[in-house]
Amino acid sequence: MKRVAIGIDIGGTNTVLGVVDENGDVLVKDSISTPTHGDAKKYVHSLSDSINELIDSVHKLNADAEVMGIGIGAPNGNYYKGTIEQAANLAFKGVVPLVDMLRENFPHLKALALTNDANAAAMGEMIYGGAKGMKNFVMITLGTGLGSGIVVNGDLVYGHDGFAGEVGHTTVIPHGRVCGCGGEGHLEAYCSAPGIKRTVFELLAKYNDGESELAKYSFGELDSKKVYEAAERGDKIAIEAFEITGEHLGQGLGDTVCHLSPEAIFLFGGPTAAGDFIFKPTKESMERHVLPIFRNKVEILPSKLKSGSAAIVGASALVWKELEKE
Ligand SMILES: [Zn+2]
Repeated sequence: MKRVAIGIDIGGTNTVLGVVDENGDVLVKDSISTPTHGDAKKYVHSLSDSINELIDSVHKLNADAEVMGIGIGAPNGNYYKGTIEQAANLAFKGVVPLVDMLRENFPHLKALALTNDANAAAMGEMIYGGAKGMKNFVMITLGTGLGSGIVVNGDLVYGHDGFAGEVGHTTVIPHGRVCGCGGEGHLEAYCSAPGIKRTVFELLAKYNDGESELAKYSFGELDSKKVYEAAERGDKIAIEAFEITGEHLGQGLGDTVCHLSPEAIFLFGGPTAAGDFIFKPTKESMERHVLPIFRNKVEILPSKLKSGSAAIVGASALVWKELEKE
């Protein structure tokens, strides 16, 4: 018997899902569009169809594959209730009891669990990735936003309401940049991919630098990949943008270290492709900001999850964790 789990990642535009084995390899996968309007019922119907097709195709590949459960990563996913609550970038308004709705269609599955995407990524790192065997670590996902998943004593920290672990919305600069959430000076406004872009434009304006290769891009065109490529070619604005990003990220992570004393902090997402340009200033800043007792004890490591499949793999990891609890 080959045990497999289904991982589902619900994004604003697409829902990707796949069947993952115990090594974290994706055996089959599919994608459906996340509706931009309409109710959740219709969506759950097409999601269930897609799940059934995946189960069929994995059985064709391996007749004795046993599907153990479904793990879901979704914005504003509440692990305790299995609900998606007031997700700003999804069409479903209010509270959607997604786990209960799926359980009606898949009553025979042993484990069904849902959490937010960054928590799912942390679970993926713990079950299949670089955090295997670690009991205390933090996962930071850098993308459109800055997500985080916190693991303490081998368990994800969900907090009393299911929403704990929002490092991205802690304040690093009083009355600083306006964050996507409406708050001011949050870490996400500086260290997410759009945050890096905002820093580049501030620097271009500060130095009135028409020579930088980044000066030719409009705000809409620039992304963190272009900043990284420019840094590799020695562009001063690009390099300073990563230094500033690392300074803020290290400050934020320094606070996280003081709260949690983790063994390691993993960084995941597009901007981490910049390697030392972002890792080095982040590490330096973190060491400067922490209490001496924590110095040189906490590693900042690149995630070992493959970027293409990390969302599915992370979500599927929830299933193995649920089965452990039985
Ligand atoms: Zn915020």
